Amino acid sequence: MDGGSSESPNMGCNKTIVWFRRDLRIEDNPALAAAARNGFVYPVYIWCPKEEGQFYPGRVSRWWLKQSLAHLKQSLKSLGADLVLMKTQSTIFSLLECINATGATKVAFNCLYDPISLVRDHNIKEKLVELEISVQSYNADLLYEPWDVYDENGNAFTTFKEYWDKCHLLQKELVSTLPPWKLQQAAGMVGSCSIEELGLENESEKSSNALLARAWSPGWSNADKALAEFVENHLLEYAKNRQHLGGTSTSLLSPYLHFGEVSVGKVFQKVRLKQILWAREGNASGEQSAELFLRAIGLREYSRYICFNFPFTHERSLLSSLKFFPWHASQDNFKAWRLGRTGYPLVDAGMRELWATGWIHNRIRVIVSCFAVKVLLLPWKWGMKYFWDTLLDADLESDILGWQYISGSLPDGHELERLDDPQIQGSKYDPDGEYIRHWLPELARMPTEWIHHPWDAPQTVLQASGVELGLNYPTPIVELDLAANRLTEAIIKMREIEAAAGANSNGTNEVVMDNADRIQSVGTTNVAAAAKTCATNSSNDQKVPTIHNSKVSNNPLSRKRSKAKEEKGEFQYNIRNNVQNEAGTSKFDDDLCSTAESSSSKKPSTSRTSFSVPQFCSSSKELPQSSEEHTDR
Ligand SMILES: Cc1cc2nc3c(=O)[nH]c(=O)nc-3n(C[C@H](O)[C@H](O)[C@H](O)COP(=O)(O)OP(=O)(O)OC[C@H]3O[C@@H](n4cnc5c(N)ncnc54)[C@H](O)[C@@H]3O)c2cc1C
Repeated sequence: MDGGSSESPNMGCNKTIVWFRRDLRIEDNPALAAAARNGFVYPVYIWCPKEEGQFYPGRVSRWWLKQSLAHLKQSLKSLGADLVLMKTQSTIFSLLECINATGATKVAFNCLYDPISLVRDHNIKEKLVELEISVQSYNADLLYEPWDVYDENGNAFTTFKEYWDKCHLLQKELVSTLPPWKLQQAAGMVGSCSIEELGLENESEKSSNALLARAWSPGWSNADKALAEFVENHLLEYAKNRQHLGGTSTSLLSPYLHFGEVSVGKVFQKVRLKQILWAREGNASGEQSAELFLRAIGLREYSRYICFNFPFTHERSLLSSLKFFPWHASQDNFKAWRLGRTGYPLVDAGMRELWATGWIHNRIRVIVSCFAVKVLLLPWKWGMKYFWDTLLDADLESDILGWQYISGSLPDGHELERLDDPQIQGSKYDPDGEYIRHWLPELARMPTEWIHHPWDAPQTVLQASGVELGLNYPTPIVELDLAANRLTEAIIKMREIEAAAGANSNGTNEVVMDNADRIQSVGTTNVAAAAKTCATNSSNDQKVPTIHNSKVSNNPLSRKRSKAKEEKGEFQYNIRNNVQNEAGTSKFDDDLCSTAESSSSKKPSTSRTSFSVPQFCSSSKELPQSSEEHTDR
């Protein structure tokens, strides 16, 4: 049992259960600070695999969590309190156990905004309030809470630019909470366990995980160091370097931000201060770097905004445009993509890096995800779930935003018609082929001229490089011209079915589901994600989403966009049009500016919807356990 007993026998004193989740830090932690001010605290972390359901974290993400919890436990101890760890079948049951054991009258926690947590937290809150336990939730994850940023009619913004412009106008004053200098532990005996007993890391996973510790140091004080190092040494060059693959061109803060090990307010303030300083010095490039970095932070904010306002996005595309898309649900292609065996070096290098390290650069995320959706026509949800299972920074909202952005599901994201050529992208983002050589040793001796398209190389060059296409490196899984034609055909088919469905529709409310839901997959799991409306207790309390966005329902931009293209005769996609565009990029390519515009909002959100992916994808257990196994297949 954990929990300590440093409480003085002052029965009249307030006791608060501080429920930690993804706010694993001491500094600028409003729930912890408020509880400490209030009297005795009982910090607890509750691990309930059952409730994680389909979104049970993958191996690397659990490894990070385990390290971070150990770090937090140590820090809390030095302040006078112990972090109680509980493994349970029911979070509410464990919270009640803590309340009963300590005699606490209050529960404090920091809000989460992903669709799964929103519903769970709302239900827990209702139950506790019914039992006359005071519950207070705080914002520790965002600069702007989703319900703070609406247009003049009270509707959610539907493009990132509009959203971020409005945030600028709000000029919210950031208040950071001082860390408590001492904590008074409330006494109480509960069924707690050690970090090891939480079971975040299986024995079989330990050897693969050992490598992670060489590259990453989880924990809130390491997050602070990483932030300081980035702001002092790399921020200045962020505008220039952020598209470079490998190295320290970006902040690498995403896993820390995901687990709340550093407050986003602190990140914002530090960068903004630098920006002001550089502006005063007339350092335009520094100013631009800070602006672009804050924009990246804005995208993270926006991912929460989208999920809150459109809480179904983890299960179906935001735009109804993909509803009838004829996905090519090939298990073999999905496997080749996962294993980095597509025959396209840049895609394969990215997928091997992802498996080996649990982290890839944003540019590579865009390239491999586009390849899965546009070239292989794999359902975007499969890719989203695979990323969730394998990324160190796996974050439901950012993952959803990323995949919807590339799959034509957002009006200001990539168009579904757009297909980028990995060969051209390779020459642009990895001009010397060093990234390929690092992750695909079988191509290490290929001359740079051919490294991004070995299938074009003369036989003599292949021989000299030790490359045997089809033997030690695959031939392209599908030729790009063929892929472009297939994509065009799929889009035409989608439009035809859409038109037929429109003609047959009697205009009644219809629930929009992706076609992927109808694809027979090897095994499926259901996730309940109910979007409920509820009254909230106080102005700084967490809210749950309501579906009332009339702006969205009246303005189905996606349809307009496609229609306009058809009218202009641009519909027939020709991959060479893209090649003309030097690097195969569009105006939105440099930034992942995404948005939400849903003609589906007039249709009610389902209270129970399903999320289907092949079983081997959804269960990280069944994935290869080491990078060696992974590349061998
Ligand atoms: C298909 C796809 C899936 C993605 N899945 C995830 C995910 O599961 N978890 C995740 O944290 N990010 C995800 N991203 C966003 C982005 O790739 C990562 O946040 C970024 O690469 C992290 O590296 P960094 O911390 O060095 O970023 P920096 O460039 O230093 O940016 C700073 C911070 O801003 C935020 N940020 C930057 N870009 C984005 C973005 N496009 N969307 C949302 N937030 C952003 C992140 O919190 C990041 O740590 C995904 C992108 C795509 C295209």
